[in-house]
Amino acid sequence: MPFDLAPALAERRAQHRYRQRLTQEAAVGRQARLGDGTLLNFCSNDYLGLASAPPVIEALQAAASEYGVGSGASHLVCGHSRHHQALEDALAAAIGQPRALLFSTGYMANLGVISALMGAHDAVLEDRLNHASLIDAGLASGARFRRYRHNDPASLTAQLEKSGAARRRLVVTDGIFSMDGDAAPLAALCDAAEAHDAWVMVDDAHGFGVLGPGGAGTPAAQGVAGRIPVYMGTLGKALGTFGAFVAGSDELIETLIQFARPYIYTTALPPAVAAATGVSLALMQQDSWRRDKLAARIDQFRHGAAALGYTLMDSATAIQPLVVGSDAAALALSERLRQHGCLISAIRPPTVPEGTARLRITLSAAHEHEDVERLLAALADARDLIPEASP
Ligand SMILES: *Cc1c(COP(=O)(O)O)cnc(C)c1O
Repeated sequence: MPFDLAPALAERRAQHRYRQRLTQEAAVGRQARLGDGTLLNFCSNDYLGLASAPPVIEALQAAASEYGVGSGASHLVCGHSRHHQALEDALAAAIGQPRALLFSTGYMANLGVISALMGAHDAVLEDRLNHASLIDAGLASGARFRRYRHNDPASLTAQLEKSGAARRRLVVTDGIFSMDGDAAPLAALCDAAEAHDAWVMVDDAHGFGVLGPGGAGTPAAQGVAGRIPVYMGTLGKALGTFGAFVAGSDELIETLIQFARPYIYTTALPPAVAAATGVSLALMQQDSWRRDKLAARIDQFRHGAAALGYTLMDSATAIQPLVVGSDAAALALSERLRQHGCLISAIRPPTVPEGTARLRITLSAAHEHEDVERLLAALADARDLIPEASP
């Protein structure tokens, strides 16, 4: 047999790193329904509870009746519809940038932007804890690729100083770090970048919709939106639908349309998804109660978990990880919480660094006060499983 795949699978199993999928039997939201019953869902990215909001569902149904299901082609061939265009215009307005461009996924948006802008004569500088799609994009671009220490502008400056010969320099960071929940210090990163004629790209998958006025995102929340030439947001998290976008200048967007291969060579999102996302975007902007409710749940959780003696990470966002350490311990904690009716999957290396396996608890405006109380009661019962957890 030319390919012996079994040893790597066996090794993964032995390491407690074997991934298994759960099969959901109902809509995403407050609860998850699996084969063995209904659980409170504390691991989706549906931060505002929009994934199954009735107006969003109705918009999808109406647009599908009118436009069918598939877009039929890529944007540049004939797949770009009125619904896509309207959504791009609304996203640009929401972010306060001249234009926005839809991508079929966030992974592809990151790959598309970095490989369209950067090449062999350039330098890409990334935070060590950036999302895998950004790391992959930096590597695939062919540029000189360097990582700086997490949220450390001095480490970034040192890397920028070593990149003197590069034609272009791009600093890339998550706005909110996906596995830790902390925010990038954008003003300080912009200071460092601007001093070296570098551009800053922010992947705001976890900030867009949740932070800033009207959910305009992490740069808006930190007052630096005008200093971020490349802003990327996803639609599958707080907006509850699917897809992603990049926002920036007219020249940036035209450059992506001409040169971003993951934009050009893929089928456009279904128009009905774009239409539903337009409704979701409007709700995101108008319904500040969703952000207020989420903030109340975050506060409730942090106070309760600290009172139980859990060490929390420095996160003010919906992402509230409990770092456990070993992979086996993270799986055991996940299993115990599941017995108490709470679904939280264990996140293990290589998604997070070695020795920092964790439960990535996520809160949502879909959660009620009693739901977080139930999670806290489960955590009280599981306290013995985490001896000296600290981040
Ligand atoms: C989820 C995520 C992505 C990928 O977005 P998809 O639309 O799911 O492909 C990119 N960056 C970050 C930080 C993410 O959390």
